[in-house]
Amino acid sequence: MIVFDEVAREGHEQVVFGHDKVSGLRTIIAIHSTALGPALGGTRFYPYPTEEAALADVLRLSKGMSYKAAAAGLDLGGGKAVIIGDPRTDKTERLFRAYGRIVDSLQGRYITAADVGTTTADMDTVRRETRWALGNSVVMGGSGDPSPVTARGLYAASRAVAQKLWGNPDLAGRRFAVQGVGKVGSAFVQLLVEARAVVMAADAFPAVLQTAVDKFGVIPMQGDEIHRVPCEIFSPCALGGGLDETTIPELNCAAVVGSANNQLATEKDAQRLADRGILYAPDFVVNAGGLINVYDELHGYSKTRAMFLVDSIYDATMRVLDTAERDGINPNEAAERVAEARMRDIGDLRRFRRSGDDRN
Ligand code: NAD
Repeated sequence: MIVFDEVAREGHEQVVFGHDKVSGLRTIIAIHSTALGPALGGTRFYPYPTEEAALADVLRLSKGMSYKAAAAGLDLGGGKAVIIGDPRTDKTERLFRAYGRIVDSLQGRYITAADVGTTTADMDTVRRETRWALGNSVVMGGSGDPSPVTARGLYAASRAVAQKLWGNPDLAGRRFAVQGVGKVGSAFVQLLVEARAVVMAADAFPAVLQTAVDKFGVIPMQGDEIHRVPCEIFSPCALGGGLDETTIPELNCAAVVGSANNQLATEKDAQRLADRGILYAPDFVVNAGGLINVYDELHGYSKTRAMFLVDSIYDATMRVLDTAERDGINPNEAAERVAEARMRDIGDLRRFRRSGDDRN
């Protein structure tokens, strides 16, 4: 495996490989950038088929976190960690505590949280070895499950999109097609229904969809028709990679606003959406609610302050859509530009030493 070629490609600062013989822990922590602050990003626990696949994933995901934090205006850099293993069978207290000690050795340059395959309870275990583990459970003084907060951010972004497209942020009567009503999707549907929007939804699991029908009165759809249904806003809240050369021509919406990470199969798909006249609100801008929520734990969690910051996703979305319009580029490119400008401009402040022992 040629590690340095991979690492140098996207300019990562540091990659740490950690191992614990007793628990079988194999972890890779990637710090993409600390230009804006400590590198925060979750720990993904996944049975990667190869070490190369694990490294590629952690490098890609950590870079994404730099952009997400920068676009949200947070004083955070981007990092991510992966643990190679099956989360259903390989989790032990020893493994997470050994992992916590490796995280701790980075002294806050990397801060972890839950991600695919890890839970708030797992973060509580990691926390026993390091204070650099966030997304802890509420009883442990943490902010708990971030999903409802992510949904609140989506709602704010949808209002910004409505303002941009129709000159009014009110979502009453607007038709939404929500793909996936799991933790984020169902919380989002609840907010939409409360705002008197019309909601159609689909889920890969019929029982999950039925719960959304029973609780919120959503109109049920088949999984393979939800992206085609005529609506104003299509909301991918399932898995990433769903917007591609096949599905984009089939969309029947004015805008896309959803929580799924990496919705665009390739970079070209942002332009494909723009060419079809569909307004795409970039995923990493609109789904930053969960990140904003755990970030607040760094300051002693205040729900009021976290919700205030999450609601500012309205402004962040508007800033990106306005930049796209002004510069004649698609919103995804605009979001990257906004994030890069912030990393450059604010990151540059660190060159000003405040004292002889200033290490920041
Ligand atoms: P989840 O697993 O609770 O929900 C996803 C739902 O999508 C499940 O109910 C699943 O059955 C359904 N699904 C899967 N494939 C589908 C398909 N083809 N069509 C319809 N439904 C399908 O996950 P979640 O926590 O709600 O996260 C949803 C997405 O948002 C993920 O991509 C996640 O990475 C992203 N995200 C989540 C958060 C958060 O706070 N949970 C934050 C940022 C981004």
